[in-house]
Amino acid sequence: MHSEEQLPLEKKIKTELAYLEEISQKRQLVTTNFAEQPWLMIDGRRMLNLASNNYLGYAGDERLKKAMIDAVHAYGAGATASRLIIGNHPLYEQAEQALVNWKNAEAGLIINSGYTANLGIISTLLSRNDFIFSDKLNHASIVDGALLSRAKHKRYRHNDLTHLEALLKNSSIEANKLIVTDTVFSMDGDFAFLEDLVWLKERYNAILMTDEAHGSGIYGKNGEGYANHLGLQNKVDIQMGTFSKALGSFGAYVVGKKWLIDYLKNRMRGFIYSTALPPAILSSIKTAIELVQEEPERRTLLQTHSEYFRKELTNYGFNICGSQSQIVPIVIGENEKAMGFATRLQKEGIAGIAVRPPTVPENEARIRFTVTALHDKKDLDWAIEKVSIIGKEMGVIE
Ligand code: PMP
Repeated sequence: MHSEEQLPLEKKIKTELAYLEEISQKRQLVTTNFAEQPWLMIDGRRMLNLASNNYLGYAGDERLKKAMIDAVHAYGAGATASRLIIGNHPLYEQAEQALVNWKNAEAGLIINSGYTANLGIISTLLSRNDFIFSDKLNHASIVDGALLSRAKHKRYRHNDLTHLEALLKNSSIEANKLIVTDTVFSMDGDFAFLEDLVWLKERYNAILMTDEAHGSGIYGKNGEGYANHLGLQNKVDIQMGTFSKALGSFGAYVVGKKWLIDYLKNRMRGFIYSTALPPAILSSIKTAIELVQEEPERRTLLQTHSEYFRKELTNYGFNICGSQSQIVPIVIGENEKAMGFATRLQKEGIAGIAVRPPTVPENEARIRFTVTALHDKKDLDWAIEKVSIIGKEMGVIE
């Protein structure tokens, strides 16, 4: 073969990339500065940050930064090994103790990221012949965990309990069954119907797992999550969540019964075969868990901002996908139009990111706005007006 000839794989990949370009789905990395602040910088341009998951503003918090810096000075930069070898730093015990106290759980485990948590938990607990029932809008890491498990993967229509019940009825009585759901859906910003899911899991002998990535820190009296907000924390068998969003840091957790956590420590490959988190991350996790309980006013402020933002955009006629939270999408439709909308926003000084399929369904490309406790109401007003002007110009609203 001549060196200039393309290998079949190279040809296939280049064709696919060209296709992604053609359908406006090719992704590009954009260098961003100050993402932890309410105003960020992209390409030297200052923009209002309506795109981060830093819901409570802790990512730029001086106390969190200090906790990390002190840990680096005291313990070094890296963990040097996986937890089961020599990477189980004393800060793990302290952070996990803070976690189980906060969540009032029997046992808990810190996992390197939310993605590996979902992948690992689901694929470790379920296997061939088991059943996984998963909301259509669940995060990709849940979908991937289900695929890796090789269990029978049944995806029910978003929040459609009738569909879920029909699928449950069709599964074998003896089989292990897992129902899994985001509590706050990451792209629509609406909530799962947890009361109904608890009822169904009890009726059909299933276990229930929740992903509180967008609920941790925000809902519940002490920010424990959306299940606590509803008083259902003891009905959810496996609660997973992340420290990378409202808690401003990085990493993830799972809490549940001791036997469950013990099993994960023994069998979860992403836990066993991956280097432990650096001490600085553990220190920031521990600090964030403390702060989130001590500062309920941030939650209140976030709720006020979210409610206002949702109400104003709805009044202008935008379709916000039934959002009930700090995640407020506006549906644009075609990919190209959503990209055009995002470009116009950025020109006006607003960072609102276009989300396209496969992250969201076809023809439902959207701008996913997120508000935070750090935003200034004046800035939100300014942004809402700009968004409405662009919306009218582009024919998204009348
Ligand atoms: N679950 C949900 C619902 C998420 O939105 C995300 C983050 N996008 C994750 C899991 C993954 O978490 P992490 O970013 O910590 O890997």
